[in-house]
Parts: sequence; C-alpha cells; structure tokens
Amino acid sequence: MRHFDAIIIGTGQAGPSLAVRFAAAGKTVAIIERHKFGGTCVNTGCIPTKTLVASAYAIHVAHRGAEYGFSVGDVSVDIKRVKARKDAASAKSNRGVEEWLQGTKNCTVIQGQARFQSPNTVVVNDEVLQAEKIYLNVGGRARVPEMPGIHDVPFLTNSSLMDIDFLPGHFVIVGGSYVGIEFAQIYRRLGSEVTIVEMGPRLIGREDEDVSQAVLEILEAEGIHVRLNAECIALAKRDGGTAVSVTCEEGAPEILGTHVLLAVGRIPNTSDLGLDRAGVATDHRGYIIVDDELQTNVPGIWALGDCNGRGAFTHTSYNDYEIVADNLFNGDHRRVSDRIQAYGLYCDPPLGRCGMTDAEVRKSGRIALAVKFPMSQVSRAYEKGETLGFMKICVDAETKQILGAAILGVGGDEVVHVLLDVMYAKAPYTVIQRAMHIHPTVSEFLPSILDKLEPFV
Ligand SMILES: Cc1cc2nc3c(=O)[nH]c(=O)nc-3n(C[C@H](O)[C@H](O)[C@H](O)COP(=O)(O)OP(=O)(O)OC[C@H]3O[C@@H](n4cnc5c(N)ncnc54)[C@H](O)[C@@H]3O)c2cc1C
Repeated sequence: MRHFDAIIIGTGQAGPSLAVRFAAAGKTVAIIERHKFGGTCVNTGCIPTKTLVASAYAIHVAHRGAEYGFSVGDVSVDIKRVKARKDAASAKSNRGVEEWLQGTKNCTVIQGQARFQSPNTVVVNDEVLQAEKIYLNVGGRARVPEMPGIHDVPFLTNSSLMDIDFLPGHFVIVGGSYVGIEFAQIYRRLGSEVTIVEMGPRLIGREDEDVSQAVLEILEAEGIHVRLNAECIALAKRDGGTAVSVTCEEGAPEILGTHVLLAVGRIPNTSDLGLDRAGVATDHRGYIIVDDELQTNVPGIWALGDCNGRGAFTHTSYNDYEIVADNLFNGDHRRVSDRIQAYGLYCDPPLGRCGMTDAEVRKSGRIALAVKFPMSQVSRAYEKGETLGFMKICVDAETKQILGAAILGVGGDEVVHVLLDVMYAKAPYTVIQRAMHIHPTVSEFLPSILDKLEPFV
C-alpha cells in the first residue's frame, strides 16, 4: 500500500490546481484520472464548444458581408477543418494539464478508475493507496433519460458529438437549455437544419421570461425551429434517420431528423466510486452532499466541482478549489455560500448573468429598483452591427446594492463583470455612476442606464 498526504480523484477544474498546491506545500499527493486530463471543460465542454462558437460566428459574419461592405462569394464550410481547429484547442489544454501534473515534484499521476476501499483508502489498477485527506473532483456526464425508444435509435451527447466530422442534415436537439441552445446555433450556422425540442413552455426555463423570449427570437430569426411544450418525447427509427415524436400544443406530431442530440441535463460520476465503502452520503440524484466548506459527511473527504451539486460550471469548480485550498493552507474560512451566482450562455449575442433573476427578487420580497435598456441604443452595438438583446439590472432600493443583472448582447459575457465586482465589493450601484468608462464600449452605458432605475414590479 502506498501512502500519500492527499489523494485527488479526477482532473477536472479543481483537482489539478489542488494537487499542485499540495505539492508546493511539500506534501505528497496522488492524482488519479480514468479518461482524459482536464475533464469535461477541456475535452467535451467549454473549450471545444466555445471554439465551435467562434467558427460559427465567423461564418455568420461572412454571410453578412454585404452589410459590412465586402463580399467573399459563396461561403462554404469545411466541417473537417472546423473540427480540426476545435480538436487542436482541446488537445492544447489536455496536454497542458497532463504535462503540468507530470512535471510537478511530489505529485504522482495515475491513470485508471479509482474506487474507495475504505474512508481513507482507494483502489486503482489493483493497487491500494492510502491518505488522510481525499478530494473528489469526479465531475459529471450527459444525462440519458429513459424516454420511449431511446434504446432503439442512435443518439449523440455533448461527448460523442465532439467526434463527428460531418454536418447533420437535420439535427434535432432534445433540450432547450444552455447546452442545447449553444449547439443549435453552432450547427445552424455551420449549415444544418436544426430543430430544438423542449418539454417546458419556454427555452432556458431558469432565466426570466423576457430573456427566454429574446433568445427564442434570436434563434428563430436564424431559421432554427423551436418546439416548446413538447410533452411525451419519443424516439423511433425511420428510413434516413430518427423520428422524434412530440405532443406539442402546436405543430406536427413528428419531426424527422437525420441525427439527434440529447441535451437534457447532467448527472454526477458518483455511482462507480465505491462511495458506500467510505460511507459518503449523496442526495437522491447522486450528488455528493457537502457542507459550506465542501467537506462531505466523512471527515477527511471533500467533494469539489460538478459532483457536489453546488455549481455546474468551470468557474464554480475552480472556486471550490480556491475555497478548499485557502481554508487548508491559509487558515481562511471561505465558504461556498459567499459566492455570487454568475455564468454565461454562449449563444450569439451572449448572455452574461449575475446574481438574482427577476423572479428570485420578486420571491425575496425586497423593495427593488430596476432598469432595462435595449442594445439597439448602445452605440458600440450599432457600430458593430450587433444590436440584438438588452441589458437589465436590478438593485435593492434600500441598500443600493446590485441584486442581479442579465446582459444579453454583444460583449454581455464580459460586461457583466463590471456589475459582479461591485457586488463582491458590497458597494452601492452609485459607485458605477461616478466611474469614468471607456468610449466606445458597451460598459460605458452602465452608469447612465443606472440613472434610469425605476420601481421594480
Ligand atoms: C457542452 C458543455 C459546455 C459547457 N460550457 C461551459 C462554459 O462555457 N462555461 C463553464 O463555466 N462551464 C461550462 N460547462 C460546464 C463545465 O464543463 C463543468 O462545469 C466543468 O468542467 C467542471 O467540471 P469538474 O471540475 O466538476 O469535473 P470534470 O471536468 O467533469 O472532470 C472530472 C474528471 O474526473 C474523472 N473521473 C470521474 N470518475 C473517476 C474515477 N472514479 N476515477 C478516476 N477519474 C475519474 C473524469 O474522467 C473527468 O476527467 C459546459 C459543459 C458542457 C457539457
């Protein structure tokens, strides 16, 4: 049996940094990865999708050449080269993570499936490893729901989609939330016919209705078909593809797609980890239950990243690492509940979100002020010819602190950080009104938009 000061399972967005931090502190650490270094973000999530978003955007702009005063003739897409560009971006990060870990003194890198044998021992490749401290960064994977016909037809997930080097003729995307929307716009811009099938009454049901509606209009304007209220989704094999039957309020009861993508949520990689042998508790969906400092119910075992159900993003996983590392090595008392909700949806234009939605503000019963401003009036947006979307901000009427914002528009994923940092500073929004912003930017409009705050209803 080999002994280490710490064992880390998984090389997602928390594990590698934590391993290097342990090693830098002169501790011995083993980090175990069963598949690709870097996990979801690097191999099948953020990096490949945002690389594809960039290709899709460039193609979209090329189609709009006449508006900008140029012509490129017929725009033709070479999907193999689009894929090669994506693969190169993923490979660079994947290699970077592996080389970083392999090159770290005191850090032992092991490839294989790890399973608990007891609360402080783990088995990998038939070898038993022991440590006082064990950190789980095992992430998640695409959920494959038990819908009728699912075992009779071929389907893609965000992982298998990464391997295809052809363009689906008619891509039916089941699931109209963050992952589904990004892929829908990517593949539409690459040249596929695309239909999104969503069970709920609107896209991205977690967002406010006006955000859902605006994103719907953006997608439909590009020729993406969207079928909402699609209860009872069933799949069946047909000549030339897969039939997706839906019970919708409107539209044909069956959509014939050449390919189907399932984008209906994620599940944690916790069922094959031997958690029962360690006594680690999970919730009914398999997420590892952690306290505010990410410790599980078993002393000496922590869970970070998507597998703890406290976040579903690269930045939440990395923030989990920072919390655990600062508490351990710096004697800090950082907590998950101190972080402010923030994320992006990388459709074009992107959505940058921070803090509460309008619905959450309403539910909180606070007296608030709010403003909503169309991107069509932002000079930076019309200079660029990208005027879709809006910015909306909600503040607490009493404390003047920002409660939440949705910036759907060109640069929205960056602009939202102006507000986020003021929220972390717990400063009133009036600070922004006294700041001089750079012209021409989208952010320069924030001070004057805040002059227009009105009672929130
Ligand atoms: C299509 C898509 C797009 C996304 N886009 C974004 C985005 O733009 N921005 C953003 O913030 N987030 C995005 N996300 C989410 C983001 O990818 C994840 O939240 C992020 O990767 C955090 O993952 P993690 O650190 O929890 O673990 P993961 O990255 O999932 O890594 C877990 C690792 O553990 C390994 N593992 C699991 N079990 C074992 C075991 N028993 N033994 C050994 N190894 C094991 C796995 O092989 C994997 O490598 C996206 C996700 C998807 C699916």
